[in-house]
Amino acid sequence: MQARNTRQKQIVDKVMGKATRPLTVHEILAGGKKFLPSLGLATVYRELNRLVETGEIQTVTIPGDPPRYEIAKQHHHHFKCTKCDNVYELEGCLKEITKLVPKGFKAESHDITLYGLCRACA
Ligand SMILES: [Zn+2]
Ligand SMILES: [Zn+2]
Repeated sequence: MQARNTRQKQIVDKVMGKATRPLTVHEILAGGKKFLPSLGLATVYRELNRLVETGEIQTVTIPGDPPRYEIAKQHHHHFKCTKCDNVYELEGCLKEITKLVPKGFKAESHDITLYGLCRACA
């Protein structure tokens, strides 16, 4: 039983490692089932929570969407395709963003999502 659980967890790591964009739990489950058809949703959730706690992966939260997961990396933003619903990573940030903050305010963080059509959908 223990060995089986370990195998299931490794599959989650493998799917996350190969991912080219942030994935939902169900996408991770579907990807993992290709390697291990018996992979269960509860195991995927448990392993994702563990990886978030250890800081190996981070959650991508887009209002109105289920959480997505990606390998933890430096500050960046996302693009959501309104046709296929996929979310893509954008590199870097704009320093000018802090110029939007009114005088006397102190910004601590920000979150930017661009919406539109991805290359495949455009
Ligand atoms: Zn698309
Ligand atoms: Zn930024």
